[in-house]
Amino acid sequence: MMKIILNAGREKSLLRRHPWVFASAIKNVDAPSAASGSTVDLLSSEGHFLARASYSPTSQIRARVWTFNDEPVDKEFFRRKIREAIALRQMSKVESHTNAYRLIHAESDGLPGFVVDQYKDILVLQSTTAGSEFWKDTVADLLIEETGIQNIYERSDVDVRELEGLKPITGILRGTITNSQLQITEYDLKFNVDIQHGHKTGFYLDQRANRHRAGEFAKDRDVLNCFCYTGGFSIQALANGAKSVLSVDSSADALSLLEENIALNRVRVPADRHTSLEGDVFQLLRKFRDENRSFDMIILDPPKFAPTAAHAEKASRAYKDINLLAFKLLRHGGILVTFSCSGGIDAALFQKIVASAALDAGVDATITEHLSQGSDHPVSLHFPEGSYLKGLVCVKG
Ligand code: SAH
Repeated sequence: MMKIILNAGREKSLLRRHPWVFASAIKNVDAPSAASGSTVDLLSSEGHFLARASYSPTSQIRARVWTFNDEPVDKEFFRRKIREAIALRQMSKVESHTNAYRLIHAESDGLPGFVVDQYKDILVLQSTTAGSEFWKDTVADLLIEETGIQNIYERSDVDVRELEGLKPITGILRGTITNSQLQITEYDLKFNVDIQHGHKTGFYLDQRANRHRAGEFAKDRDVLNCFCYTGGFSIQALANGAKSVLSVDSSADALSLLEENIALNRVRVPADRHTSLEGDVFQLLRKFRDENRSFDMIILDPPKFAPTAAHAEKASRAYKDINLLAFKLLRHGGILVTFSCSGGIDAALFQKIVASAALDAGVDATITEHLSQGSDHPVSLHFPEGSYLKGLVCVKG
């Protein structure tokens, strides 16, 4: 087996079971021309075995750990990991609320580079690293064997693949999929999802529990849902008796799916209480402020402003901007449900940003709840980066 020897002292993160090895930590690679994604042993500078990993020759993250044990990395290894991932979802009973959930959450399930989302009878797989690319076919076969689902669609079209020297790939990986649009159920509400053209693998599965929770506050309120995508929060709010919901997004495609989703749920969702608005949230919030408009509840679920800590400062300003405007637009007793999915901004910093937004808006507010990603997006204790979604429910005094 190919070997990577680390610089003295650089074994520390591996001893803490963090799964990444950066290029700067490496003293020597004994077969630098080894195939991208192939399996390597990671050794300390004294030659002690530390872990077995995948090799990413072009990435700054040069190796990602499959196992800290001296055990074979083969089909049976991946079968075990997949079974463990399935068992976690069964334990947390995610299927009692939905038929669409994350089955494999990369490092957090011990499978760096692999994201697999289950949408009823279709799996959507995303492979982001040299290692996941190397084992993709094996894992695809195992997913079929272990879930009984025959159809796998690939959405490996994320930018990070470039860092691994990989081109984007999308399309059918296994089975037959005749329609890229399918219907899922979430807390008894229906949603159309486009696995071919939608964001991520089609739906923001990580927000499921938060959409439901926010819905519980919406009764008799005028709700503004910013960055609404295909209407997850809007439809929960309407189904729970919101007085009105205004949904804003810059994507016309997302808004047209939102309209379909409202129609799909017409028994519980009164379409006449809903308005969609295509536009830029930053501009619209200002316009609403200038028009003295106000709301009883505002949801802010923006895209990732800070993918890494390097973007944190600029992102902080963007988060502060929208939260400040939202505090101004809220009526007394109004509720702000605000999120950040930026890996580069941790929960403590996010809370500080929201606090300074309230201060500058000249309002008092109280946090009544901290929110995070659903249990189908678990977090390995050794990989805190896996915990990326944070939310606050704040009530304006
Ligand atoms: N809350 C949604 C997910 C939001 S994802 C859900 O539960 O499904 C973020 C959304 O923000 C995307 O739909 C994207 O189109 C939209 N977006 C990104 N930048 C925007 C901007 N400046 N103004 C309005 N919408 C924007």
